[in-house]
Amino acid sequence: MAPDAMRTAAHSLSDARPLSYWLDDPGKPEALPALTGDERCDLLVVGGGYSGLWTALLAKERDPGRDVVLIEGHEVGWAASGRNGGFCAASLTHGLANGVERWPEEIGKLEELGARNLDAIEETVARYSLDCDFERTGEIDVATEPHQLGELRAWHRRTGELGLGGLEFLDRDQVRDHVDSPTFLGGLLDRRGVAMLHPAKLVWGLKEACLGLGVRIYENTRGLGLARSGAGTAVRTPYGRVFARDVALGTNIFPSLVRRVRPYTVPVYDYALMTEPLDADRLASVGWRGREGLGDSANQFHYFRLSADNRILWGGYDAVYPYGGRLDSSLDQRPETFLKLAGQFFACFPQLSGVRFTHAWGGAIDTCSRFSAFYGTALRGRVAYAAGYTGLGVGATRFGAEVMLDLLSGRETERTALRMVRSKPMPFPPEPLAWAGIELTKRSLARADSHGGHRNAWLRTMDRLGLGFDS
Ligand SMILES: Cc1cc2nc3c(=O)[nH]c(=O)nc-3n(C[C@H](O)[C@H](O)[C@H](O)COP(=O)(O)OP(=O)(O)OC[C@H]3O[C@@H](n4cnc5c(N)ncnc54)[C@H](O)[C@@H]3O)c2cc1C
Repeated sequence: MAPDAMRTAAHSLSDARPLSYWLDDPGKPEALPALTGDERCDLLVVGGGYSGLWTALLAKERDPGRDVVLIEGHEVGWAASGRNGGFCAASLTHGLANGVERWPEEIGKLEELGARNLDAIEETVARYSLDCDFERTGEIDVATEPHQLGELRAWHRRTGELGLGGLEFLDRDQVRDHVDSPTFLGGLLDRRGVAMLHPAKLVWGLKEACLGLGVRIYENTRGLGLARSGAGTAVRTPYGRVFARDVALGTNIFPSLVRRVRPYTVPVYDYALMTEPLDADRLASVGWRGREGLGDSANQFHYFRLSADNRILWGGYDAVYPYGGRLDSSLDQRPETFLKLAGQFFACFPQLSGVRFTHAWGGAIDTCSRFSAFYGTALRGRVAYAAGYTGLGVGATRFGAEVMLDLLSGRETERTALRMVRSKPMPFPPEPLAWAGIELTKRSLARADSHGGHRNAWLRTMDRLGLGFDS
């Protein structure tokens, strides 16, 4: 970055608060008391993010008589569910391209189930009056390099031939008519497949809805271990135990209580900035009347969107894997990434020069080698888990919750019959191999971005094996 641009970027960040904009909200509910003593229930849900809360809510909706307890190790929504970009996508496969590549024979079904899942989220938001700024705006993938434009055109043709996606190709003028940046060369618009929402308000709304249906929630209650107990399972917590017939784990990137699940995911830190609210003139200079979410098409991509009060969230680009898969809250703040992101923001929107960032934060993403979630059971089918959403879990966690409940019920459903649900990703190797492989992949992806999209021998091998690394 040129010294002037660096100074501008640094200045724009000088007042930024080091926490998620979404969680820095006066509406944030107080944490509920921790569990003390023993509890008994039909279903214990571990984890108070979207995964756990959807599981608890859907369990009660399926059977209101079921006794459901949820334990959260810290506070509901403090982790990825309270820090994400708020892009709530229909895709269950980390985007259509990933799904077509990995499950070509069932992609039609996966797309249908994903669309139904997003419709069901919208209905739930309406039914429980969840005040989470849900807007079904759609999303535009923009090309900022000539090779990306070619790729978008080819992908548009291919999805048309496959009868999937219903995507609209936008040329340079059309995309800039939606959102004006001198860097945009064209785009693909998906009008129905993505909604924007306030991530933390969704998680808090789901918590309220669960409590309203009679779910008992304990915060600051970490599950320390699970073991068979009679026909069910006992979960130890710091001040008590929970005896449950069934257990559902929505613990995302945190060490799974089922040890053999751990090698399937690695934490990848992803970062975002939030601007101050744009005034009417500044907003008019960008357009954005459709309020779509946007992402650029590079391997190291940015995602960006408007909030309800017309701030711009700008995130992505760096994907940081800490050696050994270390989870460490000091990694939530990364000034060198914030500086880079701010510089790239002003390169994208030079007309917004002078805008300031009010918040800068990061969070760990549960990355797996196939990018889309995997599912399974343990302890004779009495414990179910879903993890590995790899940066696209805002919508897909509701589907994962349905899968966990299906698996616990022991019944085959249209979800559990899917090859995507029955198969697992390739686990990550132990260190130092994981670090070496991830670093090589990251460098190769960055090189591809600056060399016309050309994928080197390492990336082509990974592609052939159906492996990858993403945030
Ligand atoms: C910066 C960032 C941007 C993102 N942007 C998007 C986006 O725009 N769109 C999108 O679709 N996805 C996005 N994601 C990913 C998305 O946020 C996640 O996929 C989703 O929130 C996962 O929900 P979850 O409930 O599985 O996990 P989490 O929200 O991480 O919740 C898991 C919870 O389990 C608790 N827990 C763990 N272990 C235990 C235990 N032993 N006992 C008790 N509790 C436990 C944790 O404390 C935590 O609260 C983003 C993620 C990040 C970090």
